[in-house]
Amino acid sequence: MEHALTVPRAIRHVVTLSFVILALLSVMAPARAATLEGDSTDYRLTFPVDGEHHFWDTFWASRSHGIHGAQDLMAAKGVPVLAAASGTISLVNWTAQSHLNRSRCCSLVLRHDDGWKSVYIHLDNDSPGTDDGKGWGIADGIVPGAKVSVGQVIAYVGDSGNAESTPSHLHFELYTPNGVVVNPFDALVRAGGNTSVPGGADALMSGSRILRNGERGSDVVRLQQLLKEIGHNAGPADGIFGPRTERAVRSYQATAQLASDGLVGVTTRGALAWDTSSANVILRQGSRGHMVRYLQTKLTAAGYDVGRPDGIFGPMTRAGVLSFQATTGLASDGLVGSRTRGALVS
Ligand SMILES: [Zn+2]
Repeated sequence: MEHALTVPRAIRHVVTLSFVILALLSVMAPARAATLEGDSTDYRLTFPVDGEHHFWDTFWASRSHGIHGAQDLMAAKGVPVLAAASGTISLVNWTAQSHLNRSRCCSLVLRHDDGWKSVYIHLDNDSPGTDDGKGWGIADGIVPGAKVSVGQVIAYVGDSGNAESTPSHLHFELYTPNGVVVNPFDALVRAGGNTSVPGGADALMSGSRILRNGERGSDVVRLQQLLKEIGHNAGPADGIFGPRTERAVRSYQATAQLASDGLVGVTTRGALAWDTSSANVILRQGSRGHMVRYLQTKLTAAGYDVGRPDGIFGPMTRAGVLSFQATTGLASDGLVGSRTRGALVS
């Protein structure tokens, strides 16, 4: 601090002034000009789902019509959907007419007061607790022309439209005043959105939920990446377990001599870990997880008694590894690296 006192007063004033100018600029700066489709934006909005939710960046995910161009905010049916900004409802179920088309339930378009636009799709169309398509998940008074304030409840999360067979979510799109669709991921994160998707980054290898057709998550992204790495193309790694992913899983399972059921539980996870681990992954006494469990089933199948496959590399598993190594002429060190893995494949 003493050092600061030696700085000439004029310089100190300049420094102070620059800070003031910078602070003013950051307050006055409009949202970063995003002009290209898919640009990220720091547009200030209110997170449009008012309840437990999660999401990951699905903007560039592939859809039948091209890219997704939106963020899917995963939440339970009936969770309130909030206006991301103040503005005027311009379309309800794709009509600007006040005589609403109930059969097209449920979507909303909100024209913000600043010229931006947000779109809300797959809103609830079911009676509570059912999937009957007879509900109306748009809040009272929300009709074309209605003025709404930021944070106001405008609708409820659902699975309508082409989301009937997927977990419920809000499909959220954001457009600049020039009508360019931008990627709202950063803006949603900044608005407090929860991106800790079930399981997180290592979800596939540490998790145990059964992945199957219709599931979504970062573990599905990882699954799709790994399948592709080993030659079973599941399509784009978009985190959505659809028919292509299921076909890839079945084809991998057949190759790995597993039951070809299209379900990814602990056995398929273990096999995937086994088949995709880099050469420097070494299992040893004390290791745990699906890959250890897979090792145990391999040893059992090869005639080595390692007890019940429990995913814990204990003394019995080590004894089994040692005798397998001795029999196959490998260095008997009880460590399972790429060589021992390779020998166990045959
Ligand atoms: Zn979507």
